[in-house]
Formats: sequence, C-alpha cells, structure tokens
Amino acid sequence: MPSSPNIASAIKEQASILGFDACGFARAEEVDAQARQEYRQWLADGRNGCMNWAERYCDVRDNPQLLLDSARTIIMLAMNYYPQVKQSADAPQFAYYAYGRDYHEVMREHMHELAAFIQNETGACCRCCVDTAPLRERYWAQRAGIGFLGMNNQLILPGKGSYFFLGAIITTLELPCDEPCTLSCGECRACIAACPSCALDEGGVDARRCLSCLTIEQRGELPQWVNTVIGNRVYGCDSCQLCCPHNSSPKPTAIQDFHPSAEFMSLTAATIQSMTDIDFKRVFGHSAVRRTRLEGLKRNASLLKN
Ligand code: SF4
Ligand code: SF4
Repeated sequence: MPSSPNIASAIKEQASILGFDACGFARAEEVDAQARQEYRQWLADGRNGCMNWAERYCDVRDNPQLLLDSARTIIMLAMNYYPQVKQSADAPQFAYYAYGRDYHEVMREHMHELAAFIQNETGACCRCCVDTAPLRERYWAQRAGIGFLGMNNQLILPGKGSYFFLGAIITTLELPCDEPCTLSCGECRACIAACPSCALDEGGVDARRCLSCLTIEQRGELPQWVNTVIGNRVYGCDSCQLCCPHNSSPKPTAIQDFHPSAEFMSLTAATIQSMTDIDFKRVFGHSAVRRTRLEGLKRNASLLKN
C-alpha cells in the first residue's frame, strides 16, 4: 500500500509523542547474505548456548515478509530505559533494563497506539513485535538508520548510547526507507576488555560465557566458574554497556513505567533468598525478571559475594 507524502513524517512525529526516542523505516525484505551467514556461523559455533530458541524459525528470521502478508516496511522504534535512580552498589545488582515494569508490556502498549494511528490514517495492516517474533531487531534497526551494532552486541544510537529497548512494527504500508547507519566501533574494544567472563570477541557474544544469558536464561545449576566472576550480579549484567564511551552521559528515561518500586530498591540477597512465590509475584509479577523464575533468582542470589 503506497503512502501519502506526509504520512512518513506524521508517523515519526506520533512515535515521538508516544515516548519513542528513535523511529526509522527499512524495506521489509530478506536479510542480506552476510547477515544470514554470520548468524548461521554463530549458531554452528554453539555461541547461542542455552538459548535454543535462537535455532528455530531461521527462515522467518531471514525474511520478515513471512511474518505479515504483503509486508512492505519495518518501522523500527527505540525507547530509553536508563534509570533515574540506581540501586546502591552493595545491593544485588539487576540489569538496568529490568528495574521497572516489563518492557514487553510497556513497549507493546505504546506500539499498539502507534499501529492504531497508522491503521486509522492509512488502512494499512500492522504487526507489532517486541521479542515476540523471530525478527532480527538490531539488524533492522541498523538498516532503518537508528543505530549500529556495537561489539557488545547492543544497538548503539549515535549521541544517545545503548540503554534502549527495540521494537518493530511490520506494516503493509510502503514508506520511504531511511539511510542505514554506517557507523561502527572503530578502534575501540573497551567492552571486550571489560567483560568479566571473556564472553566477547570480534565475532560477537558467546552466550555460553555471558553472565546475562547465564543468570537469566540458564535453568538448573550454573557452571562452577561463574562463582568467581558473578560479583554481585543477581540478574543480568551491564558491564559491557557501562564501559562504552557512547554511554558516557546517558539521559534518564521519561517513561514512568520503567521507574523501580520502593520494594525493588530495598531488595537484599537475604530478602531474595527468603522470597515466597507470593513475594516474587508481588515484586516481579509485571517485570522482565519473571523470565528467570524464583528458583533462578534464588540460585543467583546464593552465589553473591555481598
Ligand atoms: S553482558 Fe556481561 S558477561 Fe555478557 S558480554 Fe556483556 S559484559 Fe560480558
Ligand atoms: S565499548 Fe567500544 S567496542 Fe564496545 S560497543 Fe562501545 S564503542 Fe563498541
């Protein structure tokens, strides 16, 4: 469905009104051969670790047109989650993205509003994806011009950093594509040096060694070596973002839903280890932390040094 001349800027303006910090358009087509090959190699090397889901639906991952009939455009969106207040250094550390309400819920609500705007204005079909479909969000965000893939495996928005959630609206509406972002890390390798578990190299992240993956995705016991590097990370790891020069002066999020609760801010390793299912549901019922489940969180807390 072709668009009217002004709808592209109207969509970007509406995205900004809805709280998105970046919005770009890419043609909905198959990913390029290099990206496909790199992903296949990452899987073949076993670097997805316990994330078995990464091996599924590779055909769809390669071709977003399989996610929506007559798809023409992928609208890529980014939303800042950098916290206004931080946990104290001696508290069991949660990755910043998990401080507030689950981004799946929050992003979906904002994206559905944008999709409704597009549908009302143009009649086009839209599908909202926020980690809910096999879509290569960082690849499409680079193609849509909103950032580049850093060595730390995060999308870096020039001038803004990497503390952003990504979401995609696939639509039948044809929109003018933005220029892909051609920036790169250059000579910097700070995140590779800063990674506490040597999970990063120039080939990307090895999830088998990544504390974020291990503390969140891994079920059952963690490998013994994790004890020596986990520090006070109880859920996720931000080390490769904290050291990044693009994150030297991040702007805190304006989204209230991403602000932490008082109970979250008062958590200690002891309170986590004594949590009941009811406690867990109260504190994390609408949090991304549900992903690791209560037993995973207690397992992680039992390893903390503080
Ligand atoms: S999240 Fe932590 S463990 Fe994983 S790659 Fe980044 S610094 Fe390394
Ligand atoms: S720390 Fe340096 S190498 Fe790593 S993502 Fe940031 S700019 Fe790239």
